[in-house]
Amino acid sequence: MVARYHRHTGNTSTKDTLEELFNSRKVCAVYDLPAHVDTLVQNLRNTGFSFTSKELIYNNTLFPLFRHFVSTIKAKKAYDDMRGAKGGSIHTRLGIMAGNVNVIQYFKFCSVCNDESIRNCGELYFNRLHQLSTVHFCPMHEIPLRISAVPVKQYNRHQFIYPDISLLRVGVVNSYSLNDSKVLIQVAKIYKELIECRVDLSGMDFRAMYLSLLDDIGFIKGNNSVAISKLLPEFRRYFGESLLTTLYSADIDSWLTAIIRKHRKTFHPIRHILMILFLSGSLSEFMCYQPRRGIVPQQTRYSLLAHDTVYHDDWLALQKEMPEKSKNDLRKLSPKVYVWLYRNDRDWLMEHSPLKLIPVSEEDRVDWAERDKSIVREVVIAIKKIKSSEKPFLRITTSRIGKMIGKLSVIEKHRDKLPETAELLSRLVESIEEFQKRKIMSVVKKMVVEGLPLYESHVYRRATVAKGRSIEVDNFLIRLLSDLDFSNGSGEQMI
Ligand SMILES: [Zn+2]
Repeated sequence: MVARYHRHTGNTSTKDTLEELFNSRKVCAVYDLPAHVDTLVQNLRNTGFSFTSKELIYNNTLFPLFRHFVSTIKAKKAYDDMRGAKGGSIHTRLGIMAGNVNVIQYFKFCSVCNDESIRNCGELYFNRLHQLSTVHFCPMHEIPLRISAVPVKQYNRHQFIYPDISLLRVGVVNSYSLNDSKVLIQVAKIYKELIECRVDLSGMDFRAMYLSLLDDIGFIKGNNSVAISKLLPEFRRYFGESLLTTLYSADIDSWLTAIIRKHRKTFHPIRHILMILFLSGSLSEFMCYQPRRGIVPQQTRYSLLAHDTVYHDDWLALQKEMPEKSKNDLRKLSPKVYVWLYRNDRDWLMEHSPLKLIPVSEEDRVDWAERDKSIVREVVIAIKKIKSSEKPFLRITTSRIGKMIGKLSVIEKHRDKLPETAELLSRLVESIEEFQKRKIMSVVKKMVVEGLPLYESHVYRRATVAKGRSIEVDNFLIRLLSDLDFSNGSGEQMI
């Protein structure tokens, strides 16, 4: 605006323009959140323009965007600073500096907006929304913005640049994947909605909304804490690494964890926009949402609680009791268990639920040899999974494998038709003693790596195996320890 004024008045020195508009020759050019607005408005009024400071701040600066995400007090202070002559802390107050979101180096523009502007007003101007570093598309025309040759930081800090067509000619345009483009357009549109929103959202409890929405989609655990270890990868998958990097928000471990904690910190609007997109899909959807009370997580670190396993055990017991029931039947029989698992451990639930029953007519057409081979592959993977579980250690049993791959009843009923599967199972399924020996072996290996003394009682305790229950197991440990003792060449009494 000042640049256009300068051009229209025909002033040759920018200093003269500054003097006319700001009563000072030292005012710096600031494109997003300028100060000295009252003086500017007063001086413009003298030349025949009539608008108020409020109108100028709301229609021409980025203040109406940033005010939503800071406290009302901070917003008021920044607003007063913009009207007055103290520009120093406006950016910090409004959170534009928050969270490593870089600012732009060159002004950006939309070529269609420029065409329209020339047609309608006969001149060009830089649109405030396009100048956000996290806006890459024009929200009006949904095309990528071009980067001009006009640097934001001029050698002369008092210079106001008129966006001459020649300055804009070298428009560099970045390319984005189709998916990233879709999200970047959504982001730009939300920015536009936010800047045009007449209602001030700064009184809104964003955190309470986020938590309530997280609860709705199953990221709040039974103890009212956020399942952060599930949320972070899900969030990363949803937006993708490249997009998050483009939006200066790839460090979700830091900012996402912080934004759902009790905070007084100011977060850059892009962080809120990402949360809104992830949780609600759109700003209007988010604004209509009524958060429920009472979701106040104490902690955000993932922890497996005692009652976790209660629900897991219940679900397995239910299937054992009624092997003929489908997942849906079981859900109706025990909705509480199902809902808890669905919200807190969905992957496990999917792995440990009966598959849809195969109708008899289809079963006749089954290629058993092919089926046998594919089940063998699944069994091998399931056994690997079971073996890799240490907290708790799990015994390799036919029923555990069958449930994991959702084929328990097939394996049990048609063992004769699945010779390879049957052979594999008979070889690898563990007796209780075999299971205990594997646990002991694993514990001993760990203790050796950790450099712990191999006391017999410690091994039993860590492996949760009781001494004296099985001579076979007891002898196994004695042999193992004496072998190790021998190989270490140490004469110390370990047992
Ligand atoms: Zn445009």
